[in-house]
Parts: sequence; structure tokens; C-alpha cells
Amino acid sequence: MSSVCRVCLSDKVVPFLPLGEQPNTMCLLRQGQQGQLMDLTLSLCETCGFVFIKTPSKREEFYDYVQLPTSMFPAEHIGEEIDEIVGEHLSSPSDMILEIACNDGYFLNALRKAGYENLYGIEPARHCAKEAVASGLNVRNVYFSKEEAERFVREHGHPRLVISRHVLEHVQELDSFVEGLSILMDDQTTLFLEVPDFAPVEERADFSSIWEQHVNYFDVESLRTLFGRFGIEIRKWRTVPFTGGSLITTSKRGKRVLTDGGRDQKRLAARLALRDRFLESMHAARECLKALRAQGKKIAGFGSGARCSGYLNFADVYQYIDYIVDEDPRKHGLFMPKSNLGIFPPDRLVTHPVDYCIVLPFNSKINEAKVMRKYQDFVDRGGRFIETWAQAEDGTTAVIKVVG
Ligand SMILES: [Zn+2]
Repeated sequence: MSSVCRVCLSDKVVPFLPLGEQPNTMCLLRQGQQGQLMDLTLSLCETCGFVFIKTPSKREEFYDYVQLPTSMFPAEHIGEEIDEIVGEHLSSPSDMILEIACNDGYFLNALRKAGYENLYGIEPARHCAKEAVASGLNVRNVYFSKEEAERFVREHGHPRLVISRHVLEHVQELDSFVEGLSILMDDQTTLFLEVPDFAPVEERADFSSIWEQHVNYFDVESLRTLFGRFGIEIRKWRTVPFTGGSLITTSKRGKRVLTDGGRDQKRLAARLALRDRFLESMHAARECLKALRAQGKKIAGFGSGARCSGYLNFADVYQYIDYIVDEDPRKHGLFMPKSNLGIFPPDRLVTHPVDYCIVLPFNSKINEAKVMRKYQDFVDRGGRFIETWAQAEDGTTAVIKVVG
């Protein structure tokens, strides 16, 4: 495995945050089942500040059977994105559109409803691709690469719009993928690309945002450095609060720009300091829950998603938790990966009372507040919530805090 930065190609890559043996957080366990663990270590490029997982698990283990259809959880800002695409980047209903990793075709079908018919998709997860095809879309069930881009252009020409939403953060072979994007583009093509934004993660030292499926942690600077090598120029970018912060970029073909991405020394220094801030956040979580446990308090956890698992496992606090509750009935009776904590419906808080309920990290503070409002009766009966999305006094770092 090469030790070169995927963004700037520097060989000054160092282990940044070893998280130890961690599970596939998408796989909840059945009674008695032991999930596999794999080493999870974040690496840092000391030249450009890019944070990434250098040696992830095989991608087939993630995507061939655990990928959920997008239409189950459509993002709230999809309507807004369709309006932007139609208003700014397309001119005729016959414009050719290609979505890379189109999942079950949710986004392409939204464009079809908006009047566009010349639609193509590429999707690696078999069952998602099958659903997209069943909905009438033209979708190839493959991983996108330079070779797939060449094939597409040979068969169909250059699309007017290339869409890639929440894909690039999963891609290990960034050079092949981004060269593929540049092959797809001619002077008329717009690339509409969305990835999770590492800037708010860094600001809040939110270690729960680290996920074994996300092998790349981009901010706009690292994306610019990477794209520059392949002659793709970011023309516009903005952020939305989706899943803790998303970066939406639109790009055109431009000149090849080779930089080491390390010009911004302040950004680089902040990146180097982030490791200790992550460790401090984890330490604070551990100290809080350990102290409550030492007083004989019982503690439930609310939420069983990937972030929730990450929080419990990375901070090594699951031994202080009695059980997990979650609203999703499909998860009831299953067990959390690695910690083996049982997952129950929220009424367990009534039938098996606890003193505290930690609201494990959701994708936003708003969602955390919603949970606490909805289960206010837990507090009325004498329980107390613990927030994981509270803000430190300086308004930045996410901290753990007992409410009330
Ligand atoms: Zn780098």
C-alpha cells in the first residue's frame, strides 16, 4: 500500500489518530453474533493537511450488501439542489446528465420529474443499481473509474452535467476517479459534486464524524488541490448543514494546477493540533460517564446509527452504558457492533428506568433537541439527558454536557 497523500502526492504521510480495532458500523449484530473488527487509523499529510484512512477495508465488504437505498432517507436539501441545477447548469430538456453512484436513482428520478429525459447512472451496489434500472433509468452496475469514463464518452459523448453526491469521500483510488471526471468533461460540462465538509468537524473536534466508510476527509482547499492536478476548476462552492456539514461545489474544465496545497500555514497548524483536540473530546466523554457510573448511576444511550457507534467505541465509553434505545423498529432486538449493547424501543426508558440518557450524536444539534423535546417525559419522571452536541464557551468544540 502506497504511503503517498491521495490529494497532493506528498510522501510526508504520518499516522494521525489510531482508533484501534473497530467494527463495520453498518452491521448491527444478532444475538450471540460476533462482528469482525478491523484496524482504523486516520493518517495526515503533513504537506497539505489532508486527513484520510490510508488502509481501509476492502470496499466490497462495505458496499455490496449494506448500502441502503437513498429513497429511504432523502436529504432535505435535494429540492434546493434540483432547482439550482435546472436554473443554472442546464439549458434544454435534452441535455445529457450522468450521475456517478446514483444509488437507487432517487436524484435522477427527481430530475426526470423536472422534465429531463437524457439521464444516465453508474452505481456499484448491485441491489441499488437494480432498483434504479427497475425505475426505468439507464444505469450500469460498476465502480466508476478512468476506464469507465472513457467507455462512457465513447458510447454517449460528453454529458452536459456530471453529478456526484456523497461519493468521493468513499473512494480510495482518487486519481482514477478524478481523472475519470476530467475525461467526462468538455468545455460545456458542469461538474456538480457534493462531499461531507471537514471544516465543521475540525471546528468542533467532532470525532463521531469519523466513519470507516469515509476514507477521505475533504475541505474546499483539499478538493481544490486534488482537482487542480486534473484540470478541474472549482468555480463556486457553498455549504449546507446536511449530516453535520456538506460542501457543494460546481466546477468546469480549467488549467492543470500543481500545488502542494500547503501554502496556508495557519490551516496546516490547525490540522496538526486537531489530534489533541479529538483526544480531549474523547477524554471528556469518558470522564463524564465514568464519574456517573462510579456514583452507581444507570445510563441509557439514544441512537444506534454509525455515528452513535463511533462515539461509543472511539471514546471507549460503552462499558458505562446499560442499553441503547432507537425509534427504528427494524433495529429492535439487534445489538450494537463491538459493544454488543442491546437495542430497544424508546419505551424501555419507562419499563427499565435509568438515571441518565445520553443522546448519542445525530447529524445536527437540531435533531438532538428534537429527541429531548419528544422524550421530555423521561425528564418529568426524574431522568436527565446528556448532550453530546453542546458547545464549549468559545462556541467551537463539541462537548458532552448533562442537561439541567
Ligand atoms: Zn497532501
